[in-house]
Amino acid sequence: MTVIDLESYEDALATYDPVMGLEVHVELGTKTKMFCGCSTELKQDANSQTCPVCLGLPGALPVVNEIGVESAIKIGLALNCEIAEWCRFARKNYFYPDMPKNFQTSQYDEPIAFDGYLDVQLEDGEIFRVQIERAHMEEDTGKSTHVGGATGRIHGASHSLLDYNRAGIPLIEIVTKPIEGAGARAPEVAKAYVAELRELIKALGVSEARMEMGQMRCDVNLSLRPHGREAFGTRSETKNVNSLRSVERAARFEIQHRGVALDLETGGTIVQETRHFHEEDGSTTAGRIKDNAEDYRYFPEPDLVPVAPARDWVEELRKGLPELPRLRRARLKEEWGVSEHDMQSILNAGAVDLIVATTEVGAPADQARKWWMGELARNANETGRALDELGVTPAPVPAALRFRPGAPPFRLSASAAGFPGPWSRRRSSRRCGSAAAARSPPSTTASGVCPVPACRPRASCRRP
Ligand SMILES: [Zn+2]
Repeated sequence: MTVIDLESYEDALATYDPVMGLEVHVELGTKTKMFCGCSTELKQDANSQTCPVCLGLPGALPVVNEIGVESAIKIGLALNCEIAEWCRFARKNYFYPDMPKNFQTSQYDEPIAFDGYLDVQLEDGEIFRVQIERAHMEEDTGKSTHVGGATGRIHGASHSLLDYNRAGIPLIEIVTKPIEGAGARAPEVAKAYVAELRELIKALGVSEARMEMGQMRCDVNLSLRPHGREAFGTRSETKNVNSLRSVERAARFEIQHRGVALDLETGGTIVQETRHFHEEDGSTTAGRIKDNAEDYRYFPEPDLVPVAPARDWVEELRKGLPELPRLRRARLKEEWGVSEHDMQSILNAGAVDLIVATTEVGAPADQARKWWMGELARNANETGRALDELGVTPAPVPAALRFRPGAPPFRLSASAAGFPGPWSRRRSSRRCGSAAAARSPPSTTASGVCPVPACRPRASCRRP
């Protein structure tokens, strides 16, 4: 294992300004692929969702997915971008086994959306504006699986399997302009930007943007520039970082790592390279030397007509944009009467939409909030699941909240409402010996029946 020298974070920042660029790929939730009619359903047998177009067979001709273009325009509008009156696809030429055409259909100097911005809120409430360079349409590659090695990587593998079901799934790549002036908060800005972008994509309904499933992934580009100098330094690009926490860690690690490499006393030289992020320790290691755009020999895609979205269509899409997540959060915070800190916890738990849905079926906002942010949030956190993966839906919650008037509803009613899940057993054995039992009438506990609905009676539940 390679031991990497790291400069202390403070020392690196004492000498250098970090300059970041973030490239986020979003997999669109269209039913079919970007240039053919194949299903985007991935849970099928390998290579069952393919056709001559996405397999790159000779003579096959692509056709653009209209919903893909519409989604790209919505994303561009929500990011305050200009929408091109006319743009084209381009071929990005390179060989990779999971890309059967030997080129990726992408956009180069004529993206569909450009020159926008996204305001993101940092944890202390400060708003940081991230400038957007472009958002363009492209397609995903297939998937390689390396078999026979210990690590699942190509090194040490005896053979590789290729599944082209993912080849041709529509992607939108969103590229920021260089993010300067964030200083020590650069990693926090990176995380807040990706979080805000994810909320925006979900609000637009163009993708579920689940990072853990690869529906949204981020490349973190970073260079360090000595204080007072204009030119940017040589950058590294950490590829495919797939969680918010990892985006922050990758940026922080690279600031420390490049601080060492730039230190003249070490005689280090800087190369432009791609790097891999390692989830287990938050480090990055060198990948390949980074290619420049000219290495890809981009040229306009001759098999696709240019895309010229009608202005009235663009304006119609603009009018249909949902309330932006940051403004919606501010409104809900006001309506629910919660502190900034509590709102942040609700956001971190992924509970905003669940609480809204619960109020919409009749629960008071404060009780709906306590319901989701109590045992359920704790259970989700402990088991590494999202709140909406626990098998609990908002619809029955108002009835469950009324089950025991006056009782702390979110502690007692998950099991009472018949919801499945491990929390009922684990939770009852943990707590029913104390507060809940103590509050119940002596006659109940004297009979040996625990007052907590899901509890299996234990000695500790009974009063002497
Ligand atoms: Zn196809």
